[in-house]
Amino acid sequence: MNYKLVEILRAECPLFFRKPISIECLDGWFWLLLDTCRRLEALCANQLTAGKSVMVAVQVKQKYGALCIYVDDAPDAAHGVIADAEDASETVCEICAGNGSLRDGTWLWTLCDTHYREYRDSLKGDRGDA
Ligand SMILES: [Zn+2]
Repeated sequence: MNYKLVEILRAECPLFFRKPISIECLDGWFWLLLDTCRRLEALCANQLTAGKSVMVAVQVKQKYGALCIYVDDAPDAAHGVIADAEDASETVCEICAGNGSLRDGTWLWTLCDTHYREYRDSLKGDRGDA
């Protein structure tokens, strides 16, 4: 993800992103991530207030075409928030945030029609088949 977008996520969610991790997905999922991480940040703030160990992001990446968010010290309420984001990511193009669906290729991606065509065309170019 573009470092400027990552900086916004870090600035909006300083507790959740207090460890320096890379965010290994494309920019199309930025808004989904921002919305999700704001919710998780609120849960972090609750934990802090309650004197509990505070949840922290350990890895954010694309896996099998879906968004994956790995955390330590998650409160119960975080699991639903993360599962919802992972489900939602399968309907959002990872490149442009348009309406997407899970696409099969040499790699699984969630892409809109336009980006799926571009992706397929790029594979044809690489492999020389039709
Ligand atoms: Zn797209």
